[in-house]
Amino acid sequence: MTEQNLTEESVSKTMLKGLTLKELKDFFTAAEEKKFRGEQVFEWLYGHMVQSFDEMSTLPNYLRKKLNLYCELKTLTLVSTQTSQRSGTKKYLFETNDGHLVESVIIPDIKRTTLCISTQVGCPLDCQFCATGLMGYKRNLTSGEIIDQFLLASADYGKNKISNIVYMGMGEPLLNYANTLKTLHIFAEEKTKDISLRRITVSTAGIAPKIIELADSGLKVKLALSLHSLFEETRNKIMPINKKYSITENLEAVRYFAKQTDTRITFEYVMLKDLNDRSDDLNALVRLCKSIPCKINVIPFNSIAHMNPTGFAKELEPSQKFRVDEFVKTLRDAGITVIVRYTQGEDIAAACGQLAYKNLSQGEGE
Ligand code: SF4
Repeated sequence: MTEQNLTEESVSKTMLKGLTLKELKDFFTAAEEKKFRGEQVFEWLYGHMVQSFDEMSTLPNYLRKKLNLYCELKTLTLVSTQTSQRSGTKKYLFETNDGHLVESVIIPDIKRTTLCISTQVGCPLDCQFCATGLMGYKRNLTSGEIIDQFLLASADYGKNKISNIVYMGMGEPLLNYANTLKTLHIFAEEKTKDISLRRITVSTAGIAPKIIELADSGLKVKLALSLHSLFEETRNKIMPINKKYSITENLEAVRYFAKQTDTRITFEYVMLKDLNDRSDDLNALVRLCKSIPCKINVIPFNSIAHMNPTGFAKELEPSQKFRVDEFVKTLRDAGITVIVRYTQGEDIAAACGQLAYKNLSQGEGE
């Protein structure tokens, strides 16, 4: 950041949003500034959640001027919000600097307020019950774009109001592993202690080698696995990624994760009529849940009709209510913790698996 060989015109600005504490310290050291400036900027960005260098009042004027010239902070622009009249669920639509749209959702509950954030524009994984999968994949989000969903949603909803974060919005976080990990490192710092790692859940469709890597990262986050079937053939149909990383391989990985991090795994189970709601499915689920520290989220299937699905996805139907009730009762009778994720935000297409920027999709699609 020396002025003699850098001018505003000659270089693109360096994005500081999304850098970890170590990266910010390294950046200021390389720019021949004091290392502690990195700590100050870290605290302003993620602790005080400011969106401009001018608000960083502990930095000297000359430094703020230089930062304005050579660096930037803006990764996302808030385009619109929608709030569900039924549940209070609030959906945020953001635009990236290169014109892509991503969504985040705040889900208020009695005990917690959870922010669900996205890690990719679209998703390459094509899970058949998921609207995001039907959109296709555009690109990974940067660490700045991931963390900014939290910062901008907090600015709108109220600082310190968000108590939990789930990496469960658009995209597969473990296919954007490096950037996901950087944001977890940011949340892990003392200066961002408002959200402890124990209140953060990374949800994956099952990228077994990355589950192991995350387990070994030393970051004590929670893990959710989109399970949906314990039978390879059925899971292949519902989630094509299963052909690459089988459920057998993923279950080995999540057992390792639970042991390494001393946490309970969350299994997500979208209930699909005649596909994964048979007695065999239920028995296999009970056996699994008794063999690993876990809880299970049973999710009645949310319509993805707004995405005009074709082929196998078009045939999917929600399980009947009595079948969902039977599943839940049997699991609970076996001593397993079950949470039924009744629809929250379906009226604004913000329920689980529905994120696909419904309102603006015509303008964005390929
Ligand atoms: S469920 Fe998750 S991993 Fe599967 S397609 Fe949707 S966003 Fe991607």
